[in-house]
Amino acid sequence: MDWPTILHFDLDAFYCAVEEQKDPGLKGLPFAVGGSPDGRGVVASCSYAARRFGVRSAMPTAQALRLCPSLKLVSGSYQSYGDVSGLVMAQLDTVTPLVEQVSIDEAFLDVTGCQSNGATIAREIQSKINTDLDLPCSLGVATSKLAAKIANNVGKASARTNLAPNTINIVEPGQEEAFLAPLPIDALWGVGPKTTESFIRLGVETIGDIARCEERVLERFGDYGKRILEHARGIDNRTVETIREAKSHSHETTFSSDINDPQILEGTLLHLSESVGRDLRRSGNACRTVTLKYRRSDFTTLTRTTTLDGPVDLDRQIFGEAVKLLRRVWRNKEPVRLLGVGASNLISEGTQLQLWDGSTNHVQDAIDSVRGKYGSRAVRWGKEQRRDVHPTDKTNRLPALPDD
Ligand SMILES: [Mg+2]
Repeated sequence: MDWPTILHFDLDAFYCAVEEQKDPGLKGLPFAVGGSPDGRGVVASCSYAARRFGVRSAMPTAQALRLCPSLKLVSGSYQSYGDVSGLVMAQLDTVTPLVEQVSIDEAFLDVTGCQSNGATIAREIQSKINTDLDLPCSLGVATSKLAAKIANNVGKASARTNLAPNTINIVEPGQEEAFLAPLPIDALWGVGPKTTESFIRLGVETIGDIARCEERVLERFGDYGKRILEHARGIDNRTVETIREAKSHSHETTFSSDINDPQILEGTLLHLSESVGRDLRRSGNACRTVTLKYRRSDFTTLTRTTTLDGPVDLDRQIFGEAVKLLRRVWRNKEPVRLLGVGASNLISEGTQLQLWDGSTNHVQDAIDSVRGKYGSRAVRWGKEQRRDVHPTDKTNRLPALPDD
């Protein structure tokens, strides 16, 4: 049987790696990107030297300083991280069209059927990102997203130095269940502290213990129990989602930690709208319906749509509709976990030509051609230029990178 080959790619302490590029004097030092210790500042990302003192991302900065008094604090810039992330993702796009970006520094790649095997491709990607972009990164290689991600987490955790792990960890086909068995249950996705507690009360401590559970023991967890049993047995059929089907185009982003900053939310919506616009124009389509996908921190998900009188395919038009929808659902600084923008109700180029606004379209054509040559970040709208985030301002907090 032909096994799928899935890579999980994750940059190591991404924000810190970008800061080290700006100031090489930081290399090897305990430092953190994050908010000020006054008030409610938190660590968004910390260097591996800082981790040896017990500093972790999402930890209050004041606590981090108690653990490591010599910790140096660095202000971050969301815009520069976004720019570098764009370069990284563009590199991944050259490997396979099947890339699913999960967060600013993380992606899945489906390399099934590629000429080289998964391990070789992982080494090539790592060396390219190390050399061309001077960034450390780690990869997990397995037959499923679940095993690839956990393999990567395990590989990274096994590297205990002051330096970035820059590891590759491979789970051979057929070895998924054996690889997972000795790991603690919270190494599985979606297993939080509450579930862990319930399992421990049942005497279930490792993933292997779950795999050996009789189905009726897991019945109390409902459908979730069924899924967790499959996952513990190494079964995970989720595919790498590129969302590029012909009837609609959509892009979404899950934040590393929930966001309640309107500037970051709208900036993200702009990037997503640009990606949707680019897909539309590449496929020679325009859309009449724009959809917003909105997920709260408790995982409840809303979708809102607008259907327009005429077809649109320009980034600004799509963004304009998406942001109106966002302003309708987002209230009271509610933390947001995921945002997505979709375009549907497609009309092909032939039908719509006479409806297009020629002059605006020339501007968009020019932007597309510059971006095609120099990357998606080469041309930026005014709104994006102002998105520098100052972690000392607690309303402008950087999303922490949880297991970075
Ligand atoms: Mg990372």
